[in-house]
Amino acid sequence: MSVLETVDVVVVGSGNAASCAALAAKEAGSAVLMVDAASVDDRGGNTAYAGGQMRVAFDGIDDLTRVIADLTDEEIRNTDFGVYSRADFFDDMARVTQYRCHPELVEYVIENSLETLVWLRSKGVRFEAAFGRQASKVDGKMKFWGGLPCIVWGGGAGLIEALHAKASKDGIRILYDTPAVGLLRDSRRITGITTLHKGEMREVRAKAVVLACGGFEANAEMRTRYLGINWDLAKVRGTRFNTGAGLRMALEAGARSYGHWSCAHASFWELNAPEYGDPVVKGAYQKLSYPFGVMVNANGDRFIDEGEDYQTLTYARFGREVLAQPGLFAWQVFDQRAIPMLRDTYRIRQVTKAQGATLEELASKMEGVNAGRFLDTIEAFNRAAPTSDAPLNASVKDGLATQGLALPKSNWARPVDRGPFEAFAVTAGITFTFGGLKITTKAEVEDDAGTPIPGLFTAGEMVGGLFYHNYPSGTGLTCGAVFGRTAGRSAAAFARSV
Ligand SMILES: Cc1cc2nc3c(=O)[nH]c(=O)nc-3n(C[C@H](O)[C@H](O)[C@H](O)COP(=O)(O)OP(=O)(O)OC[C@H]3O[C@@H](n4cnc5c(N)ncnc54)[C@H](O)[C@@H]3O)c2cc1C
Repeated sequence: MSVLETVDVVVVGSGNAASCAALAAKEAGSAVLMVDAASVDDRGGNTAYAGGQMRVAFDGIDDLTRVIADLTDEEIRNTDFGVYSRADFFDDMARVTQYRCHPELVEYVIENSLETLVWLRSKGVRFEAAFGRQASKVDGKMKFWGGLPCIVWGGGAGLIEALHAKASKDGIRILYDTPAVGLLRDSRRITGITTLHKGEMREVRAKAVVLACGGFEANAEMRTRYLGINWDLAKVRGTRFNTGAGLRMALEAGARSYGHWSCAHASFWELNAPEYGDPVVKGAYQKLSYPFGVMVNANGDRFIDEGEDYQTLTYARFGREVLAQPGLFAWQVFDQRAIPMLRDTYRIRQVTKAQGATLEELASKMEGVNAGRFLDTIEAFNRAAPTSDAPLNASVKDGLATQGLALPKSNWARPVDRGPFEAFAVTAGITFTFGGLKITTKAEVEDDAGTPIPGLFTAGEMVGGLFYHNYPSGTGLTCGAVFGRTAGRSAAAFARSV
């Protein structure tokens, strides 16, 4: 097989984790090459589809101004940014993962979260305060909640734009349409990759390899094999290129599989969305205002506690609940208390929507739903819901819960009785898979004995052990950036040593 390139560090992928790895390796003095299976138009993987929120531990406004450049004095005066301590971050990770996340890896992410965002800024990434998404007015002041004040300007696409601009400035080349298909080995040591470049198998020889080429969410066969029945029918929220190739290559080279392989991040997604992410609509297919309404399946029954917790802590888990429902769809139902509060994503053209002046009319238009049973469900729900007129506020768990229902709604419960009504049909959209490889805090890939495989590093969705069962929003990009940067540094140090 002929040699395409010889470099110090080859990075597989061109998303957030890969770009951070490449920039960090370059910063440490390595000659770096990136390769991506996608074309230049599809560059950036899932990152290019992301909303751009990045969870970060901070002790107050002084930390935030190190990340967000453009806060005005007035915004600072009129906003309660609060504090999201390292302990808060750790508690959220531990709680949503049912205390299974790897403590050392998670601590490493948290400890490095703020400094990594500051580093991203130094690479040209612009952050803004997520006023529209993560703050609401409380006592005349904007109040942030949930550890998510930082969002990348331009979302995930803006992040890719900035990181790739810096990569280009630093002289890092990216070969597109060049999937990695295998790892080169010299005994235990990884010495490069094999790629399919312009229809030909070629070698890229390297002293170190960073795999940052995503999970297996875009591979229907692997989804079925690892996640189970009906996952082959889930919509893919992002790139079509994350087919698990990196995981397969690493496992074949003796890497240790780690984390929650039978679980994935999946949320409520427009029923008739295309099979893969749409580069124009992007995340707007997602439907996240469910805490303000009720959700029913084809039988007309509720099947989740819509107000169980903050939406940011339930949405990644609820997608899979739809796959367990008959017909794999559900309807989100709202009345006039909630309708003015719905997110912008409900106001795009590409929605499957029903409207009715009365619940009966709405029921007749909600395709596939048992109308009589739906009306009984709403009647029982309305009897159980408190009659409070307190305004709905996503930033405060209001404790207004249904009474006496077998399946409660634990917060934001109000009767659904003020027409006209609206309902939106959703299915499950898979974001990324949780199963991955075991790494050290230096992003070295371990083998089954727990020993680092010389020359092999990984970051991003390929890391196992961070997410189990569930996921706190905004953590994927932060984990990817922290371990991407670390992988790049470690790969450069390894390359210097051989
Ligand atoms: C719609 C949507 C919204 C999201 N919003 C947020 C958010 O607001 N905040 C947050 O933290 N997270 C969010 N996420 C999750 C987060 O974006 C991803 O998990 C994260 O970007 C993954 O980064 P990565 O670098 O690991 O992978 P990716 O960004 O997916 O990059 C993987 C790269 O590898 C390439 N590749 C795959 N196979 C090969 C191969 N064999 N050879 C070469 N290249 C290959 C792909 O083409 C791609 O470029 C969102 C995800 C989606 C889909």
